[in-house]
Amino acid sequence: MTDYDFAVAGAGPAGSAFALLAARAGYRVLLAERSHFEKARFGETAPPEFRAALTRIGLDHLTRAPYGRDAPELVSVWGGDQSLSRNHILSPFGAALHLDRQKFDEALAFAARDAGADLRLACRARFVQQPDGSHIVQLRDGADARATIAILSTGRSGGNVGLPYTRRHLDDQIGVAAHFVVPAGDFKPRTLVEAVPSGWFYLSALPTGSAVAILVTSAPLVPRGRAQRLRWWLEALARTGLIRAALHGCRIPEKLSVCDARGSYALRGAGKNWLAIGDARIAPDPLSGQGIHWAIDDACSAIELVTSSGWGEAADKMNAKTAREVEQYRADRQFAYSRERRFESESYWTMQATL
Ligand SMILES: Cc1cc2nc3c(=O)[nH]c(=O)nc-3n(C[C@H](O)[C@H](O)[C@H](O)COP(=O)(O)OP(=O)(O)OC[C@H]3O[C@@H](n4cnc5c(N)ncnc54)[C@H](O)[C@@H]3O)c2cc1C
Repeated sequence: MTDYDFAVAGAGPAGSAFALLAARAGYRVLLAERSHFEKARFGETAPPEFRAALTRIGLDHLTRAPYGRDAPELVSVWGGDQSLSRNHILSPFGAALHLDRQKFDEALAFAARDAGADLRLACRARFVQQPDGSHIVQLRDGADARATIAILSTGRSGGNVGLPYTRRHLDDQIGVAAHFVVPAGDFKPRTLVEAVPSGWFYLSALPTGSAVAILVTSAPLVPRGRAQRLRWWLEALARTGLIRAALHGCRIPEKLSVCDARGSYALRGAGKNWLAIGDARIAPDPLSGQGIHWAIDDACSAIELVTSSGWGEAADKMNAKTAREVEQYRADRQFAYSRERRFESESYWTMQATL
């Protein structure tokens, strides 16, 4: 059985950045990822400050094609019928980014491997804590390992990994997404956000010439049958102005994908020799547009914390940080949703007002 200092479960941005930094610092690191990065991933828009986070970990090239492209403007229709534009021209960091998350996440995991982490793909991880606090890591490929510290970076939808980790969901949101092929040269690289009665849409133009439009809505509102769901989604899209205009000339999608978009946080996100980071610690509402930035930031703070503090102190600090940040996050979220009052009587918006 191989011994590691850190076993990281989940190679999303948080887990891969943590594994990269730990491997560079000379630790023995296992990075286990349950997928092959074979499916589309969501969370495409990163704020300008994200560039600085990538520079900090030495991966500036991930801001460019095929991983990323500049998105210098955010245009929203929220709380009124007029569109509001925010240009990043004054940002000291430069433009915001649109990322192809499938390519981006895969490249980040390979960067961790190149730094020395032992990357295992298609390998779901589960931990069994030992009496001395260390962990046996049970891997889907059958080759179990031993690790001193377990890092839980399994995102907002990661299942039970065997740790005494508990999380609380803050809403019942779901993302219903369609990819569009964009006619060459026909698309402005902007982020568009627009509220509709059943939720809100965002549209991002990906570096590879396609665009993704996602309706964030409440899970019980989404029809179960595929054909019904597509019809319902297209009807919701028809209620937009800005997004519909931007997609003019694109072929109507034939299928949709659905993803968990619930906000949540770890009620218990750290304990003896284990720590949750990224969405596994706090999974923000997609409206924040900050999840990927926070995931990398979390990895940087966590590596500093676990290599500079005693274990008990690190876990306490991390749990206290979560409590502080959740309070701030809930206030910010409530403020953002309270600004949209045009659809007050619609069940999606009624629900947001009570959270
Ligand atoms: C619809 C939607 C839209 C969003 N839009 C934005 C946006 O525009 N901008 C933004 O910044 N953020 C956005 N986000 C949030 C952003 O995607 C996340 O905050 C970010 O991906 C968090 O990174 P992470 O590494 O913590 O988790 P994830 O990216 O979820 O990565 C978790 C990884 O763990 C793996 N995994 C899970 N369980 C196991 C296991 N047991 N063993 C091994 N591997 C496992 C998964 O396969 C995955 O690779 C959005 C989220 C949603 C749902």
